[in-house]
Amino acid sequence: MTRIENQYITVAGGARSGVAVAELLHRKGAYVLVSDAGSLTPEFRKRLEVADIRFEEGGHSDAAMKGDFLVVSPGVPDEASIIREYRSQGKQIVSEIEVASWYSQSRIIAVTGSNGKTTVVNWLADVWKRAGRPYLLAGNIGTAFSEVVEETSSEKDVILEVSSFQLDHIDRFRARVAVLLNITPDHLNRYQNQFENYIASKMKLPGHQTAEDTLIYGYDDPVVREQTEKLERSSSHPVLLPFSSELDVPGACLQEGVIRLRTDVYNEEVLPMKQIALPGQHNLRNGLAVALTARVCEIDSEPIRESLTGFEGVPHRLQKVRKVDGVVWYNDSKATNVNAVWYALTSFDKPVVLIMGGRDKGNDYSELSPEIRKKVKAIVAIGEGRNAIKTQLDGVAPVIRFADSMHEAVEKCYRIAEQGDVVLLSPACASFDMFDSYEDRGHRFIQSVLAL
Ligand code: ADP
Repeated sequence: MTRIENQYITVAGGARSGVAVAELLHRKGAYVLVSDAGSLTPEFRKRLEVADIRFEEGGHSDAAMKGDFLVVSPGVPDEASIIREYRSQGKQIVSEIEVASWYSQSRIIAVTGSNGKTTVVNWLADVWKRAGRPYLLAGNIGTAFSEVVEETSSEKDVILEVSSFQLDHIDRFRARVAVLLNITPDHLNRYQNQFENYIASKMKLPGHQTAEDTLIYGYDDPVVREQTEKLERSSSHPVLLPFSSELDVPGACLQEGVIRLRTDVYNEEVLPMKQIALPGQHNLRNGLAVALTARVCEIDSEPIRESLTGFEGVPHRLQKVRKVDGVVWYNDSKATNVNAVWYALTSFDKPVVLIMGGRDKGNDYSELSPEIRKKVKAIVAIGEGRNAIKTQLDGVAPVIRFADSMHEAVEKCYRIAEQGDVVLLSPACASFDMFDSYEDRGHRFIQSVLAL
């Protein structure tokens, strides 16, 4: 175990997970300095003051560069001066979940992937709740692992949402059960625009598992499949269990429309896939992942069945808002990349009026062309990305209009949509050009739709 007591530890980044890990290390007897290149919010400043933890804003002092080791928040990029400095000194650099895992007494069930993480961890929590199994839900979803790790015990499971940024600096972090949903291009600006680097980051999760652990993985995703085949050829790897909605694989699959779970230990039908409450092919796959993970964690079929049919999803992920004059409105504000929009579009077999746009991350919208041609009757484009959308999709969507606010976008959609259509907010972009967050974007959409 890395020595913590009386060590000088710098935490780079003073937002949610940085502050949480600083508080944890402080409680464990370290001298902690939180150093942020930008500024802290009043809430986090206050928390550090109350805990009597030193912090600095607007740059990194000499003292910050001289800690015994560095803990990095997920928001700090690898090119940051403080990371380069610690690297050049040959000192240890670890992520927040790495530090928290040193204190965990629970089995860790970690979920990663480019899309679906939040849906799947909440869905797993729903199964655990229905089964009456104690659990803690943490990670990339609002509660840092460091905040809850002292509540862990051998009777409880930790269900953890893990992003690639948190995997970038793990060392001994080990998930007893890991779930790898899919890998599609995202956040490439943080990975030197190299998809390979992003893939390598995701693959650190199974890379740190042993033969006693299990990896549950999305067989239908070509990148995941290729990577797990490589893993299987390596000398030591976890037990590999695929899930697929297309092929008859061991693990979890469909047989004549019925979900089947099959491992060395059991072989059982769960329920007809049509009974899954959440819409779309992607949610079918998420459901397969959830069922298999729960079964691997010795949860009975009954709570799994109940959750597959009863789980209502997470807000801002293909969330049904209301029906107005025969048109159904959906909020998918969390669709911040092209792949998520693609899955949203494949979930409908009706004509769609699509609101897209926001802060563009170098998106290739043309990947959506086949789905847009099939069902999108109009796009209403918003935000900084709207010109790129217009240029790339001109002639693909029959109509492309611009709107300056969410309210205006909703009004325009209302005028275009006819009975039987769907209006879908699924932006493919980040929200920060017009909104505080994707939640804020989703709320404003809902407000405007409810006001119709
Ligand atoms: P994450 O936490 O990985 O960002 P979310 O569960 O918040 O994932 O969902 C993000 C977006 O991706 C939403 O638009 C959702 O509808 C879509 N989505 C959910 N699951 C999947 C999946 N398995 N594959 C592709 N897209 C998905």
